[in-house]
This record gives sequence, C-alpha cells and structure tokens, in this order.
Amino acid sequence: MRTIVIGGGIAGAATTLALRLDGHDVTVYEAYEDPAGDVGGHLSLAVNGLRGLEKLGCLREVQAAGHEIDRMRFFTESGRQLGDVPRLRRQADPLRSVTLMRGQLVAILRRAALDAGAHLVTGKRLVTMQETPGGVTAEFASGRRDTAELLVGADGIHSTVRGLLDPTAPRAEYAGLYGVAGTATITATEVGIWNLTLGRNGVFVYSTVDEQTAWWAAQIADPVPPPLRGVDEAQWRRVLPGLFPEAVPSAVLAATTKVLAATHMHVCDPIRTWHSDRVVLIGDAAHPVGVGQGASMSIEDALVIAAALRTAPTIPAALTAYDAERRPRINRLLKHADDARDGKKPGPVKRYVDIAMMRLFLPFYERTQGYLYDYEPTVSAARTRA
Ligand SMILES: Cc1cc2nc3c(=O)[nH]c(=O)nc-3n(C[C@H](O)[C@H](O)[C@H](O)COP(=O)(O)OP(=O)(O)OC[C@H]3O[C@@H](n4cnc5c(N)ncnc54)[C@H](O)[C@@H]3O)c2cc1C
Repeated sequence: MRTIVIGGGIAGAATTLALRLDGHDVTVYEAYEDPAGDVGGHLSLAVNGLRGLEKLGCLREVQAAGHEIDRMRFFTESGRQLGDVPRLRRQADPLRSVTLMRGQLVAILRRAALDAGAHLVTGKRLVTMQETPGGVTAEFASGRRDTAELLVGADGIHSTVRGLLDPTAPRAEYAGLYGVAGTATITATEVGIWNLTLGRNGVFVYSTVDEQTAWWAAQIADPVPPPLRGVDEAQWRRVLPGLFPEAVPSAVLAATTKVLAATHMHVCDPIRTWHSDRVVLIGDAAHPVGVGQGASMSIEDALVIAAALRTAPTIPAALTAYDAERRPRINRLLKHADDARDGKKPGPVKRYVDIAMMRLFLPFYERTQGYLYDYEPTVSAARTRA
C-alpha cells in the first residue's frame, strides 16, 4: 500500500516508521527544510510512550539521547512542598520517564524511518487534497502533486489536513499561556527530579538532568498573546526574573546558560472527524492533549494505525477501527488536560484553590493517572525493528 504522511514531526515520523515495518511504501512531506523543523525545547516521554518506542525499536536510542526523570515534586511560591510522586509512571514501574530535546526525538524517529526505507521530502507544504474512492491526491505550495491510497495528516495542532477533511472542524486558539524553555547550570543534590513551582504569574518547572545541569520551562499566563518572534536571549534574561520572583525559579533563571525556545500555547475544541475513507488524522492534528502526553499519544497513534491497517479488511475499515480504539482514551485524557491547563493560569484565589486541589489530588495520583501508563493497544502491536 502506498501512503503519504503530511508532517515529519513526532506523530508523522513514528507512523512512517510503523508503516514501513509492515512493508508499506511511505513518503513523508514536511513543510520545513530544516530536518528537525521548528521544534525547539525539551519534552518528556511517559512510560506508555517509551513502551511504544520499544515496539518501534527506538527505545534505547531515545534513552541514550535523553535523561531519566524519576520523580516530580510540587511546591508553593514560598517553596513549601505539596507532594512528591513518580514522574509519568506508576510507582512500581521499573521504567523511568525520559526528558530529551524535541529535535533529537524527531531526528531519531526520522532516521529510523529512513533506515527502514521510507522517503522524506522536506520544504513541501500541503495546501490542498482531493479524495476519490480509490485514493488521495495531495497538492503542495510548490506545485508538486502526489497520489496514494492513504493520506495521514500528522501536521500538528494547526493542521491543514483537519480543515480540508472537515471545513467545520475547530481551529486551535491561543490558550492564554506562553512558554519559554532553557538550560541552567546548578548544583543538583538529587538528579532526575522534576520540580514545579506554582508561581504568581504561571508555573515554573526545572528538571535536574545531571549534577550540574537543569532544564527549565516556564509557562506564563497572559490573556493577550505577546509577540515572541524576535525576542532575543538577552530580553528573556531581563524579563523572566520579574515574572518569577519566587526563590527557586529566580535562582535557576539566574544560572541560565541558554534560552532555547519560546512558544504560544494553544488549545483546540475536541475534533469530531478524524478520518474519511482515505484520509486520517493522528497526533496533535487529531487531538492536541498537552499535559506531558502529546508525544506519547502520537507514538501510540502510530502503533494503532499500523496495526489497524494490518488487520482490517479494507483501508476505510482500518480507519474506523483506529478511531474506535483511540477515541475513549483520548476523551478521558482531554478532561485531564483541560484541568491541568486551567491550573497554570494564576490569580491569588485560583492559586489558593490549586494548592488545596493538589493537596487533595496528589495522594491519589496513581489512582487517577495510572490508566495512562499501563496502556496496551487492543489491536496487535507494530512489528519490532530488527
Ligand atoms: C511548550 C510545549 C511543551 C510540551 N511538552 C510536552 C512534553 O513534555 N511531553 C509531551 O508528550 N508533549 C509535550 N508537548 C506536546 C507535544 O509537543 C505534541 O503533542 C507533539 O509534538 C505532537 O506531535 P505531532 O507530530 O502531532 O505535531 P508536531 O510536533 O507539531 O509536528 C507537526 C509537523 O507537521 C509539519 N507541518 C505542519 N503543517 C504542514 C503542512 N501543511 N505540510 C507539511 N508539513 C506540515 C510541521 O512543520 C511539523 O514538523 C508540548 C507542547 C508544547 C507547545
């Protein structure tokens, strides 16, 4: 079967690899020329995403490229600890979450897909498509056209494929938050800890990735999206300490070695239409979930779509099976994502409520979040890379 994948990010590269492992002929079209695209900063992979990478044969490479993070701790702005729970895993799980640079994860997945025989075409932006009963023709801004039996829309939260599949589909909107990420030199007494401070202007997180280094990320509430393009490192170094005057964030910011990325955060209403007979959405194009699970959900999608295509009698039946398998899990997660995003918007009353909620919620962390981490696709898993 010939497949076109639109978008060479995490979902697109993972799906391409999964489909190649099943012997499909796959071409990925990526809008940016840069092999890793516009994907700065770091991200965390939960154990469910790591188990998906294991099935794709990429786990060890990803672990080697990143840092294991064992636990996460939550603090008030005065530095009082609210809780200490396992990071993105169950307590008894021997696997540890991994934090790595986003570009490195994309590069590993793309390299594995290319090694498995996929084709990658960069600098090609999909602008439109036509579906017929037998296939789909994609058209790019450059004028290039390509036809395949299946088109996978892995083009992220601002997906073009989503709008072409259903012109009434919701569009991503600014979430009232923006994020800035960086690295710092600190002396860590404990390595592998993710620390979150509920600050007065947003949340500040830093992870101790080794004895001397912290990777930090700030999410700042602002009802109007501030201009981020062109804000240079020196400006961030001036602005951020004022936004995070709390003791721990300001100490980490003072030790900053590099500001890596700044981005507006977006939300999108639930997306009803994930597929037609020949076109399917995956990753953020289908379900931007955030909350430390977007990458892991993209990897799960890749396994499920490949398995559905392997077992269903026709492509339309496979896309229906994919939707049926993924929808309940994503809907459950979206409820958490909404709650978590609201928790990042500050205000004194809101902060007080958040602290009270965290106190209540953290002792039951495993009971409420455990379902995320022990997921096994009900459709049989993708073949493992040799
Ligand atoms: C600040 C921030 C922090 C995050 N932290 C985490 C985290 O710690 N853990 C986690 O799991 N998730 C995290 N996420 C979410 C995670 O990044 C996403 O869920 C994940 O990247 C989704 O992958 P994707 O491949 O669907 O989309 P993307 O990564 O957005 O990739 C889409 C790709 O499609 C390309 N593209 C777009 N339009 C076109 C077009 N028309 N034609 C061709 N190509 C196109 C883009 O250039 C891009 O390469 C975070 C997100 C943000 C914003």
